Amino acid sequence: MSEIFFPLVKRSEGFDALKRRVIDKGFCTYCGACAAFCEHIVLKEIPELVEDCSLGYEDVIKCGETGICYDVCPMTETNEQELEEAFLEGKRDEELGIVRKLTAGSCVRAGQGQDGGVVTSLLLSGLKSGIFDCCIIATRGSGFRAEPVIAGSAEEIKEASGTKYVAVPMVSKMGEAIKEGKRKIAIVGTPCEIRATRKIQHVMFKEVEEIDIIAIGLFCFENFDYDLLSEKTTELLGIELGEAEKVQISKGRYIVRSNGKEKSCKVTALEDAVRNNCFYCEDFTARLADISVGSVGSPDGSSTVIIRSKKGEELFNSLEGFVPTDVDREGIIRAVSLKKENIRWGDEVPPILRLD
Ligand SMILES: Cc1cc2nc3c(=O)[nH]c(=O)nc-3n(C[C@H](O)[C@H](O)[C@H](O)COP(=O)(O)OP(=O)(O)OC[C@H]3O[C@@H](n4cnc5c(N)ncnc54)[C@H](O)[C@@H]3O)c2cc1C
Ligand code: SF4
Ligand code: SF4
Ligand code: SF4
Repeated sequence: MSEIFFPLVKRSEGFDALKRRVIDKGFCTYCGACAAFCEHIVLKEIPELVEDCSLGYEDVIKCGETGICYDVCPMTETNEQELEEAFLEGKRDEELGIVRKLTAGSCVRAGQGQDGGVVTSLLLSGLKSGIFDCCIIATRGSGFRAEPVIAGSAEEIKEASGTKYVAVPMVSKMGEAIKEGKRKIAIVGTPCEIRATRKIQHVMFKEVEEIDIIAIGLFCFENFDYDLLSEKTTELLGIELGEAEKVQISKGRYIVRSNGKEKSCKVTALEDAVRNNCFYCEDFTARLADISVGSVGSPDGSSTVIIRSKKGEELFNSLEGFVPTDVDREGIIRAVSLKKENIRWGDEVPPILRLD
């Protein structure tokens, strides 16, 4: 047979390894990075290969030694220091990662954000000042489900404010945005999604200067399986999650507002609904983001902000109406430590946590 049909490129493990070491073990965060640039992978309940992996076919896609899908996954081996050096610039803080500035406050303009509305305001000001032309954000889908969208207008950004405590394949939209011709892209994501974004940038766009990505990370202690969270919300609070107006986790409480009334329970009561992958995650503050935002460390109605790069600083400086408040660094550090203590060390851990 001709080499045209059987190009002789050394076959490596690619998706097989991703499936064996991450997906089948329940370590997949559902970030969507593996499917972002590969037409062979579709995101069903989990990422699945729809046809033979083309890793061995030279002219289909340029895969790295182990396959791009494997390389960009946030749960596979990651050289965090290399990524910090490539994307961030600031002082090293043992607990918080690279920091240029730590602050807290709220944005009066947004008014309806999850906490201080800082992420929504950053997106609005970044779009207005041309720092990016579009952003990948999570908009509410049916019930309290959520889906990723590529937004290019203030209306879409405002519509998507608020936290959705479910896995949203944010990074899957990166490929679509680039195919649509977008070059200056902001992405909002949990720490695992930001790690995947950085891995994509490092593996695929190192030499492509015109692609400019700014990563806005959200603090994240854990995330939930939608169906299980929905069941727990009915069982513990007597509320249909799909009808909730707002869901919040604050100071150890799970708070749901529905029909103008709030009910709450201890967040620990939801343990059975937590996604398995979150028990193998040690990044609380999105250490690889240009700018990280969360509620821990600031008063109710405000957001804590960690600026980690010049890009993050430029975006923060474009903010209008930011009202600063005190920041409780020790409070953030307590959450960082607690998350590390929560890790389920055992024989089965994802490649990112393996010490060998
Ligand atoms: C799963 C999850 C767990 C979190 N856990 C904590 C925690 O333990 N402690 C803490 O301090 N903070 C946590 N946060 C962050 C916090 O809930 C707020 O998102 C953050 O404080 C920003 O508030 P804001 O008012 O500035 O955001 P807003 O102005 O309301 O903007 C929120 C932005 O986040 C995007 N978004 C919403 N849900 C998701 C999602 N699932 N994936 C990706 N993007 C999304 C929206 O599109 C929107 O652009 C968590 C966030 C998530 C998504
Ligand atoms: S990204 Fe590469 S290795 Fe992974 S499934 Fe696609 S072609 Fe195969
Ligand atoms: S890249 Fe993301 S969606 Fe794909 S296997 Fe890894 S964690 Fe799961
Ligand atoms: S706890 Fe970690 S793995 Fe789970 S959603 Fe948050 S960042 Fe991702």
